[in-house]
Amino acid sequence: MPPECGLTKVEMLGPEVLVYLTNIKVFYDNPNLIRNMAAAMRKRVLVRCDPSVLKPPEEALAKIKTIVPADAGISNIAFDPEFSEVAIDALKPGLVIGKHGATLKSVILETGWTPNIMRTPMLSSETISGLRASMLAESKSRKKFLNSLGKKICEPVEKSEWVKATMLGGFKEVGRSSTFIQTQHSNVLIDCGINPDTWDPSNAYPYLNAMNLALDQLDAVILSHAHLDHCGFIPYLFAYGFDGPIYCTPPTRDLMALLCFDYLDVTQKQGGKPPYGIKDVRKAISHCVVRQYHEVTDITPEIKLTFHNSGHILGSAIVHLHIGEGLHNLVYTSDFKYGYTKLFEPADSTFPRVETMFMESTYGARDDVLPRRQESDAKLMAVINETLANKGKVIIPVFSVGRAQELMLVLEENKLSVPCWLDGMTLEATAIHTVYPEFLKHNVQRRILSNDSPFASEIFRVARGVDRKTILEGDPCVILASSGMLSGGPSLEYFKMMADDPKSAIIFVGYQAVTSLGRKVQSGLREVPVLAESGKLEPLKIAMRTETVEGYSGHSDRNQLINFARNMRPKPERIFCMHGDNNKTQEMARVLNHILKIETRAPMNLDAIRLR
Ligand SMILES: [Zn+2]
Repeated sequence: MPPECGLTKVEMLGPEVLVYLTNIKVFYDNPNLIRNMAAAMRKRVLVRCDPSVLKPPEEALAKIKTIVPADAGISNIAFDPEFSEVAIDALKPGLVIGKHGATLKSVILETGWTPNIMRTPMLSSETISGLRASMLAESKSRKKFLNSLGKKICEPVEKSEWVKATMLGGFKEVGRSSTFIQTQHSNVLIDCGINPDTWDPSNAYPYLNAMNLALDQLDAVILSHAHLDHCGFIPYLFAYGFDGPIYCTPPTRDLMALLCFDYLDVTQKQGGKPPYGIKDVRKAISHCVVRQYHEVTDITPEIKLTFHNSGHILGSAIVHLHIGEGLHNLVYTSDFKYGYTKLFEPADSTFPRVETMFMESTYGARDDVLPRRQESDAKLMAVINETLANKGKVIIPVFSVGRAQELMLVLEENKLSVPCWLDGMTLEATAIHTVYPEFLKHNVQRRILSNDSPFASEIFRVARGVDRKTILEGDPCVILASSGMLSGGPSLEYFKMMADDPKSAIIFVGYQAVTSLGRKVQSGLREVPVLAESGKLEPLKIAMRTETVEGYSGHSDRNQLINFARNMRPKPERIFCMHGDNNKTQEMARVLNHILKIETRAPMNLDAIRLR
């Protein structure tokens, strides 16, 4: 660093290096400097002004308002002295950045504060505003956490000689996904979910005991995506001694907050005992270290993590781990879609190196072939239009995250003639989608950026503060409500009120777990037990039309799974099939072995396998 930059401090900020300067202008005048430093340190380098040269906030605020054009639609400006940053929320972040970063640069040069630019959601979102406020409030403790994390990541260790995986959950089953990856010197957990479909603690949570490790010995948790069967047990780790980082993409952090708070809420309303509390969810969120796709990150002294797009839900990722200089490379696909959807690009299938792949197999059996999307859209619209013509109403139970937004795009594109009510978490989840257009498919991204967001169409109605009975007594409509398997939440409430109406219809569009109420209704039972207000299970007669429209899954079907394994570059040496019912994981392992002529198997929970 040239002396005229006025270097005052260098510190580790998690996996990054933070450098404080008194004369940041000299630094910006020399564009090669940051590249050379990053190359020399093999770390990402962040440059900030030393606190002594920051303009006072009131003065900086006035300056920012003159520099950034009013069209940017700034909704909030907040100063974060801990990081010499100013958080700027804007409807059009591109205008805060300016051409080639010119506007951003003038804010830094004229105020000293580095803008942290965030998009304002199109629908109001308590999750987003709450998260941004608490991040600011916890700045000091977060910095302390990142400093000590950074030191741990840099500690020199001896070379590891082995790599081992222990299957803690989600093997030969769907739910409570968790895999423990261990070397002599690193202990890393990938995913830590619950099985949202059961109350029985021996089946609901992963086998964390099988790690034989105190939770404070765990170095890191990697979160592939924000579905409860992958993230739902993470706050528990914080309730029992874990104090380390959770690596995930930015949308995954926000969606995890939404889902975990909702999980606590729903569990309590149903009289259950959640395994952790609100403060544990908060702690989990403040320990998130977010990374973009393709960013290589040191997470322990010997493990590098890279996320790749998995096409499953907003921010969902395939996890690539590079362990010890070339000792072992592992790909954990988690849930992925290797096919067409309206919302996301298909999963990445190219990686720098791979020896072992863990692959989901939700639709791994011989007959698990999904229809073409055009056929699915046609059938969905036909069932809806027939029901509406009969003056009935349509309830579609959806996973609030992912399928709901995919269906919104289908209904918007097919110009639905009646209102579509969004209930429960679907609303918040949709708002979060509008904050991260860069994670969506290119054409949806473009529509959002040009003020033509499909999510803002006038067919969509917000069921916030509206009585559900009133909606059902009103005009014909379609309702998108969580949860996706009728295991609770508004979809179950609507279903209970609509079940005896032969004019109305329920349409299943997503995976229904074997033991779920959704599966029972889907299989054609005309009477099912549901939890009544008395707290007892009582029989509910079903007279409504029951339909299933396949093809909307965020999971790959059998052909897509096979194509992914076949097209994957480089070719893995072995594949472990996971995340699927017993026969599906086994069938997938068998067929991949036949096609690829490599070692494949479908491990069970509690299996431990040496990878290297
Ligand atoms: Zn998922």
